[in-house]
Amino acid sequence: MINLIFLGPPGSGKGTQASIIARKHNLMHLATGDIFRDEIQHGTKLGKEAEKYLKRGELVPDHLTIEALKSRLEIVPSSGRNGFVLDGFPRTDNQARELDNLLNQMHLTLTAVFFIDVSEDEIIQRLSGRRICKSCGFVYHLVYNPPKVDEICDLCGNKLIQREDDKPDVIKRRLQVYHEQTKPLVVYYAEKGLLHFVNGSGSIEEVEQRIEKVLEFIQEGS
Ligand SMILES: [Zn+2]
Repeated sequence: MINLIFLGPPGSGKGTQASIIARKHNLMHLATGDIFRDEIQHGTKLGKEAEKYLKRGELVPDHLTIEALKSRLEIVPSSGRNGFVLDGFPRTDNQARELDNLLNQMHLTLTAVFFIDVSEDEIIQRLSGRRICKSCGFVYHLVYNPPKVDEICDLCGNKLIQREDDKPDVIKRRLQVYHEQTKPLVVYYAEKGLLHFVNGSGSIEEVEQRIEKVLEFIQEGS
């Protein structure tokens, strides 16, 4: 089995890489945000519980996230998948310990933890170029996917806006919070010999190739 965790700051592209690697290696892609959306949509007990927190704009407590993950991890062995990719969890070293307990109970082991590393300047460039259309929700990027007419939505002709979260000062603050929170987590996995830093700059394909190289190396060694 190949069991992976993807870490990386907002704007690092870790979610994109996690889903590409999952598809290529036939792994179950477990993104905690998607799992809760799914539970809420199906009106499960867990979904209802999680919704209370999400509605208030609060984080879902760890025990609920662990419970949700458990229900997904349980079906990995019988799903015909070769393992899993965790995306969006853990975020703290405490959560990593809880996850370890869960994996131990289930006799699952981690293969590798990837940290997608992108410079602050590049993240700001990626995120601050984002513009969204308030009426139809379409997302543009001034450099990578610009609208035909400056600042105007191609689809509905309304003016594009920049989300508060995508303004450089806010991005800087988000990155600071992210690094403070994940520093102990990164140390935790480094000490276990599981952590691999991947240079996340360049194209999606370039970053993917770097991850594949590490995976090949690990598999040759095992
Ligand atoms: Zn629009």
